[in-house]
Amino acid sequence: MKKRLLKILKRMCVVIASCIILFFLIDLIFPFRIDVSYSPVVEARDGTVLHTWLAKDEQWRIKASLDEIAPEFTKAIIYKEDKYFYSHPGVNLFAVCRAFFNNLFHLKRTSGASTISMQVVRMLHPESRTYFNKCIEMFRAEQLELHHSKKEILELYCNLLPYGGNIQGIKTASLLYFNKTPDKLSLAEATALTIIPNRPNSLVPGKNNAAIIAERNKWLKNFKSENLFADVIVDDALNEPLTATRHHAPHAVPQFAWRLHKKNLSQTQLRSTLDKNIQQKTKTIVSNYAAQLKAQNINNAAVIIINNKTHEVMAYIGSPSFEDRAHFGEVDGVQALRSPGSTLKPLLYGLSFDAGLITPKTILEDVPLNIAGYAPENYDMQFRGNVTAEDALKNSLNIPAVELLNQLGLKNFLTKLTVAGFNDTWRNRNKEGLSLILGGCRIRLDELTALYSAFANNGKYYPLKWTMDDSSISKNSASHSVTVLSPGADYMLTQILTTLHRPDLPNAYYIAENIPKIAWKTGTSYGRKDAWSVGYNKTYTIGVWIGNFSGEGVPDLSGASVATPLLFKLFNAIDYDPSNEWVQPPKDLSFRLVCAKTGRIPNDFCNDQVMDYYIPGISTNEKCNHLKEVFVSADEKYSYCTSCLPAGGYKEKLFQNITPKLATWYKMNHIAYQKIPKHNPSCTRDFNGYAPVITSLNNGMVYIIMDKQQQQLTLSCAASNDVTQVYWYVNDKFLSAANPQQKIFFNPASSNIKISCADDKGRNTNIEIKVKFD
Ligand SMILES: [Zn+2]
Ligand SMILES: [Zn+2]
Repeated sequence: MKKRLLKILKRMCVVIASCIILFFLIDLIFPFRIDVSYSPVVEARDGTVLHTWLAKDEQWRIKASLDEIAPEFTKAIIYKEDKYFYSHPGVNLFAVCRAFFNNLFHLKRTSGASTISMQVVRMLHPESRTYFNKCIEMFRAEQLELHHSKKEILELYCNLLPYGGNIQGIKTASLLYFNKTPDKLSLAEATALTIIPNRPNSLVPGKNNAAIIAERNKWLKNFKSENLFADVIVDDALNEPLTATRHHAPHAVPQFAWRLHKKNLSQTQLRSTLDKNIQQKTKTIVSNYAAQLKAQNINNAAVIIINNKTHEVMAYIGSPSFEDRAHFGEVDGVQALRSPGSTLKPLLYGLSFDAGLITPKTILEDVPLNIAGYAPENYDMQFRGNVTAEDALKNSLNIPAVELLNQLGLKNFLTKLTVAGFNDTWRNRNKEGLSLILGGCRIRLDELTALYSAFANNGKYYPLKWTMDDSSISKNSASHSVTVLSPGADYMLTQILTTLHRPDLPNAYYIAENIPKIAWKTGTSYGRKDAWSVGYNKTYTIGVWIGNFSGEGVPDLSGASVATPLLFKLFNAIDYDPSNEWVQPPKDLSFRLVCAKTGRIPNDFCNDQVMDYYIPGISTNEKCNHLKEVFVSADEKYSYCTSCLPAGGYKEKLFQNITPKLATWYKMNHIAYQKIPKHNPSCTRDFNGYAPVITSLNNGMVYIIMDKQQQQLTLSCAASNDVTQVYWYVNDKFLSAANPQQKIFFNPASSNIKISCADDKGRNTNIEIKVKFD
C-alpha cells in the first residue's frame, strides 16, 4: 500500500515536473510579445499634457504609469473585474471551474472567469471565443505573469481599456472626457471610467450620460455595502453630476511639440520645461495682440521665454494661430531664419568693451563712411557727427556699428556668434560681410534670445534646456557655459540697454503704460519685414519676433513700434517688478573721469570731464587728443612745423584735432570748427599726417559705364583740416585743382585707371580702378 502510494506520488511529481518543463519550453519557443504603440505626448513641466498625437495604429492611447492614476480607480476596477488579482497566478482556477460547470449544465452564465491578466491577453490579441482559444488565453496569461509583475500587468491593463471609438487607456479617457489627468479623478468619475470599458459602444460619455450615471450608482452602492470606500465619500460620489463630454485631444503647443518630438522619436512621453501658466498667459497675450496687428497686414508673431537661472524654455509660441493656413500659421517662427536687423549690435558693443576698443563714453564718429565700397546709412538717413558709444547703441546708429565691427574684426565677431550657438552665420561665414551687423545675415529667434539670456547671466552663455530630463545641462551647468562677455563688459552693456529714455521706446508708453524694469534692444530688418524686440531682467529673457511668414514687408513694421509693446505686455504679465534692482557692478569693473570730447583719459587741456566705467587693464588708456598744439605765426595766418619753425615771431596754440572724415562732414554741413592756419608756404618738409582719402571711388573696384558719351566718374575726397587745396591726377596726368570739399567729374578714357589725390602739404593717395564699357 505504502509502496503504491509512493509510486503514485513519484509519477505525479514526474508529470508536474514535465508540465513545468513543457511550459518553460513552450514559453521559450512561443514567447509572449507585448507590442503596444502609445500616443506620443509632450507635457508641461508639471505633467500637464500639452500636446499629443495618434499612436502608430491610429488610436488615441496615452500611456500612464500606475502612480499617475487615482487609487480609487484601480481599487474599483480590481474589485469589479478581478477581486483576487493579487493572489491568483494569472488564471483563477476556482472561477474557471465554476464557469465550466455552469456552462456544462446550462446554468446562468457567470462572469469573473477572465482575470485581468487574461483580459490583457485578449486585448492584445483578440481571438474568437472558443474553448481552444480560451486555453491559449490562459496559457498566455501565465506567460504574462511569469515575465511581469502584478504592477506592470495592472498598468498595461489600465492603458489598454477600451473607451469607445479609437480611445484607449485610462489617461486618454480621463483627458478626453474629463479634461484632467487620471490622478485628479473623483470617485464618481473614476467609477464611471471603470464601467465604460464593459460597454464602450452604448455608454458614450456626453451621449449616454444618464445610463452611465445609473450604472455608476449601482456600482457605488455595491462599493458602499462592501465598505470599499468611506461612506461619506461614496455618498458624495452618488450625488455628483456627470459632466463628461468629448474634448479635443490636447494640441496647445503644435510647433514646440513637433520640434521636441522630431528630436526624440523613440520617446513617447516628453516632459518639457514649459510652464503651463506662463505658456497659457503668453498664448492669450500673443493671440490678442496679433489680432490687433491684422488690420496693418501683419499676420505672424513668435515668442520664446527663457528662465535665466535654469536656462529652461518656459513658453514657446511658434505662430499666433496654427490653424491660420492662409498666413502659413503652421510655420515655426521661433526656428525661422530671418534677418536680425540691429539686434546683434549689443554683442558687438560688448565685445568692443572687452577688446579695449571703447568704453560707454568713448566718442565715435557718425559721418559718411565707405569701407571697400560698403557705404552704410543710418535708419533716418542722418549723420550725427560725434556720438558716445552708449548713445550710438541706444540710437542703434549704423555707421559707428559698421566702423566698430571693422575694428573688432568680422572674424572675431563671427567666432563669438558661433560659440553662442548661431548656426547659419557660421555656415555662411565666407559670405558674411560688415553688413552682418545691420542685419545682413540670418538668425533664429531662439538663438537670439539665448544670447540675450547670456547678457542676463554676466555674459555667460548656456545652451537652452528643453526637457526636464535634459541632464546634460543641469548636472554640471558651469562646465557647459561659454563666456561670451566678461562680467564688466556685460554690466556696461546692460546699463545702456536698461536706460529708460530711449528712441526705441514706443511713444505711448511714456504716458500710458507701465514700463517693466528690463534691458532690451529692438531691431527692424531691411524692407521692414522683421520686427524684433528682445529683453531681459534677472529672471527671464523674452524674445519677440513680428512679421509675415510670406516675407511681405509692411511700412508700419518696426521693432520699436510693433514688437516692443508686446515685449512689455509679456514682462508685465509674467514678471513686473519696477523696484527690482538686479544688476550690480562686478569686481572687474571700475570708473574714472574721462574727457567728454573723446572719452579718453583727460589731458591738461581737457576741462569737460565725465565719469565713465572701464575695465582696468583692458580698456584703452590713451590720453585725450581732442586738441593739438600747433606753432602759428603771431598773426595766426600761417602754421609751422618743427623743420620750418622761425627763430622768433611764433606762438603755440591749441587747435581742434579732428579726422579728415569729420572735417569734411563739418564743412559739408556748415558746422563751424577751428581750422589750422595754412602751413608755411616756404616749408619743404613732407608731411606724414593724414593723406587725403578718396571717398567717391574704391581701390580695386570695377565700374561699369553704360553710355560712354554721358557717364562721368565723380572724384571727391576727405582731407585733413589743415588742407585748403587738393590736386587730382588721372593716370599721373594733372586733372584739376580743387578745394577739398569740391566734387570733380571726368570721363574715363581707358579701362585701367590710376587716380591720385595730393594735398597742399604734399601728402598723396593713389587708387587703381577698372572701368568697363557696356
Ligand atoms: Zn579732451
Ligand atoms: Zn613746415
